[in-house]
Amino acid sequence: MRFADVAGEREIIASLVKMADEGRVSHALLFSEEPGYGALPIALAFVQYLACKERGNGDSCGVCPTCSKISKLVHPDLHFAVPVNSTKKITSDKKPVTNHFIEQWRSAVTANPYLFEEDWYETIGMEEKSGLISVNESAEILRKLSLMSYEGGNKYMIIWLPERMNRECSNKLLKILEEPSPGTHFILVSQSSGQLLSTIISRCQVIAVKPESPARLAEELIKRYSVDRSEALYYAGISGGSFGSALKLIKGSESEELFFNMFASLLEGCLQKSLASAIKSSEEISALGRERQKQFCEYSLGFIRKCYMMSLGSDSVAFVTEKERESIKRWSGRINQTFYSKAYNILNKAIEDLERNVNSKFVFSDLSNRFFISL
Ligand SMILES: [Zn+2]
Repeated sequence: MRFADVAGEREIIASLVKMADEGRVSHALLFSEEPGYGALPIALAFVQYLACKERGNGDSCGVCPTCSKISKLVHPDLHFAVPVNSTKKITSDKKPVTNHFIEQWRSAVTANPYLFEEDWYETIGMEEKSGLISVNESAEILRKLSLMSYEGGNKYMIIWLPERMNRECSNKLLKILEEPSPGTHFILVSQSSGQLLSTIISRCQVIAVKPESPARLAEELIKRYSVDRSEALYYAGISGGSFGSALKLIKGSESEELFFNMFASLLEGCLQKSLASAIKSSEEISALGRERQKQFCEYSLGFIRKCYMMSLGSDSVAFVTEKERESIKRWSGRINQTFYSKAYNILNKAIEDLERNVNSKFVFSDLSNRFFISL
């Protein structure tokens, strides 16, 4: 990606460009940020700027073969070390390292360079709660950097979330971080630099990536994602200056809207005693991925709770959107009070079944049948 593709952060970008143009780039940089501020996209754009031979006007050209390979994260002299752990496919006896997941890394980061740590773990289907940059990875880092540069230029090693390196791994890297071979650049992207060993930090030039002001963040959302101004201001205000968080919230609200529409048509079908419509809804839900199916059930549980609270007359339930409020009012006279506790049990059973890997078509046809009978 080019600097032009990075949202905001113009001061840091200007200082990186100056550093590169004056030939004063440190062999080890440490970007320190909070999740979603954009240190990874800045690091990627910086590597592309350093490597591009056609760079000008403070940015890489974006079209030369080098830029093209870097933007797809397939340049042979651009290496990554990222936290991973065992999955169903890469079991612990295979000693999981970044290379096992490199294709998933490329597609996740090219799709969204503001990737969150937990989303990365979900992408690779990790079984452990947290990822690790292990001593096996440090051996990989040393091996990769001992190779000659494939394209005759510099070599770049991006370590994403170096705070996930264990002590053994960190210690193995101290020497090379202190004195890498000429033309080797380390770029560490940390979201918790306080957890790094001081011996790592002292070997790096630290660059703090700061949050954007809500006004600038809103402008970026409008410019890059065609979000409405009022919506952009709302998300910019609640995301604490983190562009990645704002994006995530926008995507989340898209999911909520989808889940609401699915749940509403299921409920409406059952209330109108249309079995065909209830079956159609259950088929639509079972076409979602398993994680999304669970999210749908969780959304529906929350929604049922809101319906119940409003049926008791507490009109000031928090976090009810206008659309939800209108629908709840429309349904309130038609839904029997006993339905809420039944729906609560039905949805919880569906979540349990999904966790036990029961066929999802069965889970949701059962769920719609039970709703149909209970309403
Ligand atoms: Zn270029």
